[in-house]
Amino acid sequence: MLVGAGHQVVVLDRGRVPGGRMASRRFASSRYVDLGASYFTVSEPAFGVVVDAWEAAGLARPWTHRFAVWDGTFGAPKDGPVRWASPGGLRSLVAALAEGLDVRQGVHVKRVSRPAGTSSGGFEVDGDRYDAVILAVPDPQALAVLDPALLLDSALPSLADRAWDPVLVLAARWDSKAWDFQDGVFVHGSDVLSWVADDGARRGDGAFVLTAHSTPAFAATRLAVPADAAPDLVAGLAALGVPEPAEVLRVQRWTFAKPVGPREPAFFLEDGLGLCGDGWGRSRVEGAWLSGTLLGEALT
Ligand SMILES: Cc1cc2nc3c(=O)[nH]c(=O)nc-3n(C[C@H](O)[C@H](O)[C@H](O)COP(=O)(O)OP(=O)(O)OC[C@H]3O[C@@H](n4cnc5c(N)ncnc54)[C@H](O)[C@@H]3O)c2cc1C
Repeated sequence: MLVGAGHQVVVLDRGRVPGGRMASRRFASSRYVDLGASYFTVSEPAFGVVVDAWEAAGLARPWTHRFAVWDGTFGAPKDGPVRWASPGGLRSLVAALAEGLDVRQGVHVKRVSRPAGTSSGGFEVDGDRYDAVILAVPDPQALAVLDPALLLDSALPSLADRAWDPVLVLAARWDSKAWDFQDGVFVHGSDVLSWVADDGARRGDGAFVLTAHSTPAFAATRLAVPADAAPDLVAGLAALGVPEPAEVLRVQRWTFAKPVGPREPAFFLEDGLGLCGDGWGRSRVEGAWLSGTLLGEALT
């Protein structure tokens, strides 16, 4: 949108590849596994147009509207909105959005400030000049780079007041289907697990791969060495009747997985400084898209 309006736009991302928390990683089997967001939902017509284009291009597919529920035992499955997934992993959708843009991967931004002696009219990002800066990151990551002087006299709500929950995600492989549930399970009453997704069902290739998401409380105690949490996460699966996997592929750490509690405005924009992403409006994939889109429109 900004490029279409004639602006020169540079995207700086510290990740090796585009994706952020819509991360998919390829393992020895050459198959991608979704290690961050599990799926996305669609309620906004404008996002629906984007998703329709992804579906037509074979990038996204409607997955399911029903998941199992475990609460000590398996109860009645729960119906909800259609959950969308991606045959190539959710990361491929971010890559599609980034196509044709000047995206610079592996660039860790350290400081966003005003040039010395100024209080408006542009910014410096690690010494390089820009007319406007948009931070599309969780609040703690924005706070880490914003010069505190920028926050003085700003209408920006406090970014420090709201916590962000951590999550660990175990990805593991079995030699055959070793679980009775379809698609995924909401796990209630476990100290370790909150949600399990059948990655083969999600992606449509039938691979025997599960991703098991921890509770925030469990993740908080195991962030230092995520791999060490694998036995407890596997034991959490055993409680659901899932036997030991043939191979643990990875335990992915998300220190700032999701904001705790809502923030009403869909974005912040003041004098060329913008903040957007899932910390604004609805904290989901769709919310992050909408937040960035609305901020782009406002900036244009
Ligand atoms: C485990 C997990 C499960 C989830 N499940 C779901 C789900 O099922 N459905 C759903 O809709 N949503 C889910 N979400 C939330 C969803 O992933 C996010 O809402 C969405 O991906 C946020 O996108 P974003 O662009 O706002 O932020 P991000 O995806 O976090 O993008 C921020 C980017 O900024 C980069 N960055 C950060 N700091 C710097 C810096 N200093 N310099 C340069 N780059 C930097 C990061 O590397 C990252 O690429 C889940 C999230 C997690 C972690």
